[in-house]
Amino acid sequence: MRGRVNLMDIVLPGEDYPARKQCRAWLAEHPDPSPRELAESGYVAPHWPRPWGLGASALDQLVIDEELKRASVQRPQNRIAIGWAGPTIIYAGTEEQKQRYLLPLLAGEEIWCQLFSEPDSGSDLASLSTKAVRDGDEWIVTGQKIWTTFAHQAKFGILLARTDPDAPKHKGISYFICPMDAPGVKIEPIVDMTGQHAFNQVFLDEVHIPASSLVGEVNKGWPLAKVTLGNERVSLSGEGALWGDGPNAEALVDLVRRSGASVSRVLRHQLVKVWIEGEILRLLRMRQLGATLSGQQPGPEASVRKAMGDVHGKHLMDTAKDVAGAYGMLADAGPLEALKGMPGVGLLPGEGGLAWISLVWSIGYLYSCALTIGGGTTEVQHNIIAEKILGLPKDIDIHAGKT
Ligand SMILES: Cc1cc2nc3c(=O)[nH]c(=O)nc-3n(C[C@H](O)[C@H](O)[C@H](O)COP(=O)(O)OP(=O)(O)OC[C@H]3O[C@@H](n4cnc5c(N)ncnc54)[C@H](O)[C@@H]3O)c2cc1C
Repeated sequence: MRGRVNLMDIVLPGEDYPARKQCRAWLAEHPDPSPRELAESGYVAPHWPRPWGLGASALDQLVIDEELKRASVQRPQNRIAIGWAGPTIIYAGTEEQKQRYLLPLLAGEEIWCQLFSEPDSGSDLASLSTKAVRDGDEWIVTGQKIWTTFAHQAKFGILLARTDPDAPKHKGISYFICPMDAPGVKIEPIVDMTGQHAFNQVFLDEVHIPASSLVGEVNKGWPLAKVTLGNERVSLSGEGALWGDGPNAEALVDLVRRSGASVSRVLRHQLVKVWIEGEILRLLRMRQLGATLSGQQPGPEASVRKAMGDVHGKHLMDTAKDVAGAYGMLADAGPLEALKGMPGVGLLPGEGGLAWISLVWSIGYLYSCALTIGGGTTEVQHNIIAEKILGLPKDIDIHAGKT
């Protein structure tokens, strides 16, 4: 089999389809659009309501994606902003907040980070202790956040802080937009085991933020946090096995198949197993994509895909390492490193050639440990599925000592 079995391919409408015609006409006028032009056109997040998006249907969005890809037009990269801060501001922000933040965020001009996790509040996020105290036209924020991805590059952070210490933990939290250059914000890097600096510790020492940076109502931040986390789970569910980035199972199978490498019987089984997982995830993703694009807020089913996808990412990277054999112990070595330079072996790939591939797989292997932790651990996803989908009794709240 040279081609792949597509279990669920969508045939998109052709040349005369209005969204396709409009997109092509726009691209003809803007053959090399700037990020700002793309943002203003609505093509960065077409499913968002106008004027930020195009209020596009699921089908329109897929057609637009196809047209942008065909024209080699890349959308701005601003994952936390576009993936989860933006949808929450659209959901609950004031008109002023939408006008101020959405366009620069879509254009990738202002990077955002997420100030949720704290040293003592990760899975049990609602127990967070960073506090915000109202003082005239301002809030004064004090506390510590951790694992804050992109904090060192961000202009703004979505921030959860306790505004009523006497209320039950879920009911005393508010949701803010925090300028990351405000006096009192101190950012310290954390370098992970891949050697990269992506996340940080953030110390907030009497940081004054304007009253207008509250999103939604005072003490009603928890339901908004859930909107953000639901969108985060979807955003982390793209095609690549590393939260949407990096290679997928098909890429590994393709690599082995096209290189002509022989693998042991055990490895063949392992490859087939991860490929099957990848196909199931692809189907789940399409179902979820359809629901999201047709305007539904992501529900607990996003947890099903995240729980499966994160474990799958680890399986895939483990398999790639097993294919690499002894080379799997080396930094910068990809699954087919042993074959490098061997005569008659067609080592392929696309972009960037072999070096790119090696780096992606070796970093991917180390990075895959994070998959079942970030964005809510696998155990937490299981708890959500147990309660919200399966109707099982609630998890024991170990922190409050009650169920
Ligand atoms: C790559 C990466 C990027 C991140 N980026 C950000 C970011 O930008 N912003 C941000 O705010 N946070 C970020 N995080 C933090 C992430 O959200 C937390 O690590 C995660 O929520 C888990 O919290 P914790 O690390 O405190 O672990 P803990 O909550 O202490 O969990 C420890 C272990 O106990 C288990 N556990 C805890 N409670 C339960 C329970 N009730 N039932 C069963 N098992 C349980 C967990 O599953 C886990 O195995 C990031 C994390 C990673 C790995």
